[in-house]
Amino acid sequence: MIPFAVKRWVYYSYQKGRERMFGCIFCQIASHEKPAKILYEDEQCLAIQDLHPRAPVHLLLIPRKHVTSLNDKLEGDESLLGHMLVIAARMAREKGIDGTGYRTVINTNAEAGQTVFHLHIHVMGGRVMKWPPG
Ligand code: 5GP
Ligand code: ZN
Repeated sequence: MIPFAVKRWVYYSYQKGRERMFGCIFCQIASHEKPAKILYEDEQCLAIQDLHPRAPVHLLLIPRKHVTSLNDKLEGDESLLGHMLVIAARMAREKGIDGTGYRTVINTNAEAGQTVFHLHIHVMGGRVMKWPPG
């Protein structure tokens, strides 16, 4: 007979596996396998410093579970997406760019410039932004 603790471990491992994409760098960061400067994290999302910042403040909000892009079927994930925006605003406030202004960007697929295919919200500020973006 298999002990309950083992069954629970197998179940949680299975669930965790379903939420990850093999080889995805942001999944690896979310599970602390790959190093990153983590500015905030909770059970749903993380805020990390962008590796190649394009503005004095440039951080990324990433969901803990693997979501490829906004093109995924996200019905049911409304609270996750709303939560990420709330945390984006909180991070902007903590970085002191809420008053001067900041930009939140989600690139979806190649022509928009998406290079990492795990959904992320860029939060950028600390300099004047141009409009329209290039
Ligand atoms: P995208 O071009 O997909 O909208 O944005 C991907 C962002 O992820 C880029 O700004 C890039 O600098 C950042 N990035 C790529 N690889 C890593 C990484 O390994 N660690 C961190 N912290 N950021 C990364
Ligand atoms: Zn991922």
